[in-house]
Amino acid sequence: MTCRRLVLILGDQLDRESAALAACDEKQDRILMIEARNESERVPSHKARTTLFLAAMRHHADWLEQQGFALDYIRIGKPEAASFRSALRAAIERSRAQSIAMVEAGEYGVQEEIARACAVAGVPLHLHGDTHFLCSREAFESWRKGRKALVMEHFYRHMRKTHGILMQDGKPLGGKWNFDKKNRSTFGRKGPGMIPSAPRFHPDSITAEVMNEVEQLFPDNPGSLDGFAWPVTREQALTMLRDFVSQRLATFGPFQDAMWEGQMLLYHSGISAALNLKLLNPREVIGAALTAYETKQVPLQSVEGFVRQVLGWREFVRGVYWTEMPGYLDENALEATLPLPRFYWDGNTDMNCLHTVIRQTLDTGYAHHIQRLMVTGLFSLLLGVRPHKVHEWYLAIYIDAVEWVEAPNTLGMSQYADGGLLASKPYAASGRYIQRMGNYCNGCRYAPDESTGDSACPFTTLYWDFLLRHEARFAKHPRAALQWRILRRLDQEKKAAIRTQADRLRADICGQPDN
Ligand code: FAD
Ligand code: SF4
Repeated sequence: MTCRRLVLILGDQLDRESAALAACDEKQDRILMIEARNESERVPSHKARTTLFLAAMRHHADWLEQQGFALDYIRIGKPEAASFRSALRAAIERSRAQSIAMVEAGEYGVQEEIARACAVAGVPLHLHGDTHFLCSREAFESWRKGRKALVMEHFYRHMRKTHGILMQDGKPLGGKWNFDKKNRSTFGRKGPGMIPSAPRFHPDSITAEVMNEVEQLFPDNPGSLDGFAWPVTREQALTMLRDFVSQRLATFGPFQDAMWEGQMLLYHSGISAALNLKLLNPREVIGAALTAYETKQVPLQSVEGFVRQVLGWREFVRGVYWTEMPGYLDENALEATLPLPRFYWDGNTDMNCLHTVIRQTLDTGYAHHIQRLMVTGLFSLLLGVRPHKVHEWYLAIYIDAVEWVEAPNTLGMSQYADGGLLASKPYAASGRYIQRMGNYCNGCRYAPDESTGDSACPFTTLYWDFLLRHEARFAKHPRAALQWRILRRLDQEKKAAIRTQADRLRADICGQPDN
């Protein structure tokens, strides 16, 4: 089993075109894949998240073997799979490899752990750049240089120009960079009606075996595997992408922000996990959407809205993550210290929006962006939960969660923990926003427009309390000032009642802060 070099492929590097694979010499090198157990334990990973990663890895390993590569594949049940460190040590001893090669890891901590393990073993580590992304870490660094504020919109326009996407004669197609105003529709009283359902991929024998192992190894981890049907191979991921483009992309734009009880995907793509594991390449995803536009199957507002997410947000948050790590995970600009409410792990709350989104998350490992940002994220922001605890929950609970994309979204966009580096103002809103964007409030015991009293919506109470608590910081902020101007219309008595009710809510939900 000796070899010249071990080529390490991580669970989120299942890219058939990867630079490390391209440089792998089938005759002298061996591929190493590790199902590191501590990846499912450092946060209590949703069973569907662990299953998805492992099933996709095992299918990828089969494909690699079919291509003629020799593999050292370390399964999660083996003692040496406890961590990357222990598995690497064992693999290096077995193979007597003279060096390790890999594509740069997506996560800072994983890269550090691997680098340390190689240094201890006295084996050089060679890193290839990650060509999956359209913007390399170095290119982001140079775009960022000299900028005081990091504005996604500026980055997005830069990417559109650099890659000639949705551009005509140097100008944005349709004369505008974004169509956000058209993209905030709701379903009205009648609801969304018939939405074409997305494909479901029933577990084959490889995935079924993983599901059994996950149930046995992590019986107490959150989430359910009943109905697990996510794409775990490149072929399935392509089916998911094509189905989205032909069935739902046309309506993606207008209903991006809408929510509806009992409807998980609505017009969203559901491809984030496949993208993050690199079963799909962002270029082919963008290409498929552009072709649909060019062949007049979908309107510009939907294509632009979708391209903005993949070319803009996804690449942007990765750049922010790598320029801000390792300190980013401990940011806490608003000095929030409460523990995460217990109901985030079981959905047991009488707030219908939170109950619905958390139950859906536990059942499937998925929630769309507005559910994450404006229901679960909004509530922890308004309540004042320690951002690191919120980060741990998001990293654990979603099938697409990998730290480089999860952390900036959670700590930056959702919790304002980085003090405005990623989002220029906090995404703070009352229960009326949730009422406007869907039908959760219809089945709720609370009233979204009431801030005090027995039927006051906790979001609305905590929203006004949030404005009161952070008045000194934001009242003069150019983009946030309007919210605080409205706050000034409340009389002192009302403000005092809101504060009292918010304090009571915090004590009921969280008990004492976990300092
Ligand atoms: P669509 O709505 O169909 O969007 C298309 C694609 O665009 C997505 O698949 C995704 O790759 C990309 N995208 C969309 N929004 C974002 C964004 N804000 N940042 C980066 N990429 C984006 N996304 C993850 O992939 N992993 C995470 O761990 C993750 N954690 C999040 C945590 C919070 C608090 C929030 C607010 C958002 C998070 N997101 C995360 C971003 C976004 O919510 C998901 O990418 C999206 O909901 C995935 O569903 P979809 O594939 O149906 O996306
Ligand atoms: Fe959520 Fe408040 Fe609406 Fe109830 S009333 S569903 S708690 S926003």
